[in-house]
Amino acid sequence: MVPVNEAIGIVLQHSPKPDCESVALSDALGRVLAEDIVADSDLPPFDRAQMDGYAVCAADVATVPARLRIVGESAAGSGWHQEMKEGEAVRIMTGAPVPVGADAVQQVELTRDVDSGSVVEILEPVETGRSIVRQAAEIKAGETVLQAGDEISAAMIATLASFGYARVKVGRRPRVAVMATGSELVDVDKRPGADQIRDSNNYTIAAYATIAGATVERLSLAGDDTEQLKQQIADAAKRSDVLVTSGGVSMGVYDFTKAALKELGAEIFFERVALRPGKPTVFARLGKTLVLGLPGNPVSVSVTFNLFARTALRAMQGAKKPGLIAETAVLARAVKGSIERESYLPAVLRTDEMGTLLVEPLQWGGSSDFVAFARATALINVPTGVKTIEASQAVRIVRLPGSTL
Ligand code: AMP
Ligand code: MG
Repeated sequence: MVPVNEAIGIVLQHSPKPDCESVALSDALGRVLAEDIVADSDLPPFDRAQMDGYAVCAADVATVPARLRIVGESAAGSGWHQEMKEGEAVRIMTGAPVPVGADAVQQVELTRDVDSGSVVEILEPVETGRSIVRQAAEIKAGETVLQAGDEISAAMIATLASFGYARVKVGRRPRVAVMATGSELVDVDKRPGADQIRDSNNYTIAAYATIAGATVERLSLAGDDTEQLKQQIADAAKRSDVLVTSGGVSMGVYDFTKAALKELGAEIFFERVALRPGKPTVFARLGKTLVLGLPGNPVSVSVTFNLFARTALRAMQGAKKPGLIAETAVLARAVKGSIERESYLPAVLRTDEMGTLLVEPLQWGGSSDFVAFARATALINVPTGVKTIEASQAVRIVRLPGSTL
């Protein structure tokens, strides 16, 4: 059995370097940047008014009310490009350039137009620099504003757009093939016969793979038959960068996935991980295709996919931090660990009235209990050898991708 961290290290070591491609900005959300993003202009590009009001010279309005002659108007997109002199004011709008000669903007609420709009009365003094954002105060041209390896969030889109990145270089999406194995499985649109169950793993894996940035092909269900498995695996490997199978990796008489992989000549990197749930997880390479052979139980699938397959998929796109990020939360109820294995136990996160992040282990019936797992938003990580962690202790958690909070 390899420890979880070691297994993740092995996955990273064998994940190929990202290929990149250029995509339109409108398709860039969620992709991983393959280039640094550099400002092509100062921000703001000129001294910019932050309020609607009057551009003034602060010294002119030290004593109020002060009357100033309105000599022009500076609007967003259409500035006033003469020099403002003593005793003068320019009507100005939010986002417009501040004229030369002005050193402050007084907001319109603290002014009053007189003489049918040719003169403004400034009702309150204003300090130098007020309501002006100076050119380059936010960003200087040439500065790196986002880095290769960052995942493009909705909040980053404005940055890309503002510096002219109509197209962006990103990591190519890995092609994932998903294949559930098990002679008991029928497709979701079928009614299970005697001794049969509906396949859920193909859909779960497809969902998590999509969240991880992959394009997904769901393959037809494979029975527990080494020859059939060999054929379907070989076929799938030709069409995908990563093949994710579920089922058939335990010690049962009909667990043939590993045998099929070995007979096809796959290189097996690990086949048992000191992990609960998810011990029989297999990681291999067949030709150029990475293969993750996940256990069959639906909860084990969710845990092992997110620890190993997701990490590979994100690394293949060039993500800076491809693995799940560990955080700390306070345990709401005691959990039990395992002597030999590291545990990742389904849990729900919430905050208490003081803002402390609490994590509550789910009441669940084990790794087949996908109905209980449906509520999970996080996994509690109990280190190997720890028997119990009591309530109120701080624990390591990872958030479950695709769930909120
Ligand atoms: P296995 O690892 O093949 O022994 O499967 C372990 C358990 O998971 C068995 O109870 C299977 O019926 C169940 N299982 C396997 N594959 C799937 C699947 N695709 N969808 C739902 N349950 C599955
Ligand atoms: Mg099976």
